[in-house]
Amino acid sequence: MAEVLVENITKTFGKMTALDNVSMDFPDGGFFALLGPSGSGKTTLLRTIAGFILADSGHIRIGGTNVETVPVEKRDIGMMFQNYALFPNMTVADNVGFGLRVRKVGAVEEKRRVGEALELVQLSHLGHRKPGELSGGQRQRVALARAFVTNPRVLLLDEPLSALDKALRVDMQIELKRIQREIGITTIFVTHDQDEALTLSDKIGILKDGKMVQSGAPREVYDNPANIFAAEFLGEANVLQGTREGGGLRLADGRMIQLPGSAGGAEAIAIRPENLSISLTEPTEPGIGSLQGEMVQRVFAGAVTTCVVQAAGRRMKSVALDRHLPQVPEGTPVWLTWEVDRLTPIAKG
Ligand code: ATP
Repeated sequence: MAEVLVENITKTFGKMTALDNVSMDFPDGGFFALLGPSGSGKTTLLRTIAGFILADSGHIRIGGTNVETVPVEKRDIGMMFQNYALFPNMTVADNVGFGLRVRKVGAVEEKRRVGEALELVQLSHLGHRKPGELSGGQRQRVALARAFVTNPRVLLLDEPLSALDKALRVDMQIELKRIQREIGITTIFVTHDQDEALTLSDKIGILKDGKMVQSGAPREVYDNPANIFAAEFLGEANVLQGTREGGGLRLADGRMIQLPGSAGGAEAIAIRPENLSISLTEPTEPGIGSLQGEMVQRVFAGAVTTCVVQAAGRRMKSVALDRHLPQVPEGTPVWLTWEVDRLTPIAKG
């Protein structure tokens, strides 16, 4: 186990800058998600940490040591990639034990450690099977056991759950988190699934066009997104832009929004759908902001309902328990209301 430090890493492929001065620290024993749209540099960063890609500049430190000149096999890293190819002719136990045989740990030690790893992924009863005789989720757990059985300092997982259907994926997320907690290994996980990043990780790094847009604990990033991209990428956000006038924001249609004291010079705000309420009358209480709009759609989804309201020239979303939202037909004039302190000032980027 070890802390991983990525410092000012830049990597270009020809004219393409895949990583642009990226820094992030991954404290010892934590579970970290690298999140970002396709092509944002997630895999490149993971492969640079692993040692498959040599950065043009910057440093990677593992456990305090610079590893730039350390080859992949000496970095003591366990890996599981999207196409986690298992050896089809080997049993589950032999697949898991592969890295131990390469390290020549001896048959007795191999048996013991494979046994422990299979127990952790709850596959002790299937050690004798071949990969072709397993379900997708079971194969994934074999690949995971194979990645951590050598007791590496760091575990790198590149979209490890992407091949699974939604239900199995959610089960595996819970499993993965349990296993990571039990072995306490520093784990860096690439995903483009925001929910997965929010549920699993202690810290998230959001990449866009090779740049680290923001990193921090899920709640911190969710509650205080650095800019419009981070606000809209991690969860749903209603974003309003304007120009500053005193303590408020003047929207393009001339309406003023009162900003919280913490707004600084921000020219945009984000408000999460769960912080927007809908009222049939204009609120007058102090500390409550509002915008008049028109109900466009009401989408019932079991536990919660989403209302789409056209206001300030855009579609705003409000999410709440169904009974907390007015039952009005589409086209009805409504007020979107919020607590001013719930507005998050953000940068325009
Ligand atoms: P995805 O979610 O689609 O896997 P990603 O965020 O992991 O994307 P990367 O695979 O890191 O993105 O790629 C970042 C950028 O670098 C992309 O524009 C990609 O085309 C480019 N790139 C990656 N590897 C190479 C390579 N070997 N040669 C040239 N360009 C590359």
